[in-house]
Amino acid sequence: MRNPLIIDSHCHINFPQFNSDRGDALSRAGRSGVSEIITSGITTTFEGAVILHARDAEEKALKIVENCDSVVFHCYGGSIETMNEILDHGFYISLATLVCFSQHHRDLAREVPLDRLLVETDSPYLSPRRGRNEPAFIVDAITTIANIKETNFEKIAQKTTENARKIFNI
Ligand SMILES: [Zn+2]
Repeated sequence: MRNPLIIDSHCHINFPQFNSDRGDALSRAGRSGVSEIITSGITTTFEGAVILHARDAEEKALKIVENCDSVVFHCYGGSIETMNEILDHGFYISLATLVCFSQHHRDLAREVPLDRLLVETDSPYLSPRRGRNEPAFIVDAITTIANIKETNFEKIAQKTTENARKIFNI
């Protein structure tokens, strides 16, 4: 069966770490079911959606954007309490491949409702495997989240893709 389409909601495929094999990395991503990749440079051009990386300052960040229409807390790693406030505002949580090896991120994955979840690799960082991370490894995050939420891979892939399309207007 063909993999459902997946969107890597944040990565740095434009970084020099991919200079020697960017094309191959993109083909591997395609073979893993990744249909679209949102790079950090492009995200700023999307109208209406604010994408935040608020490491250790999630609460402050929320105060700043609370009147915005649509906000993605990318690479979210804050508390469950702050996450619930973010969700109360109708905003989205993007979990990175960190979820494959961090207990805290697994706890976040358990709590976040599926209709507010995005997934990302933040590659070349946060690799769930040896060495550099790349968009194809998004499947590791989806598998992990599916196990935590006791559902299947397809459902997580479909739902996170649907959410990404909605918020990024793609
Ligand atoms: Zn990043």
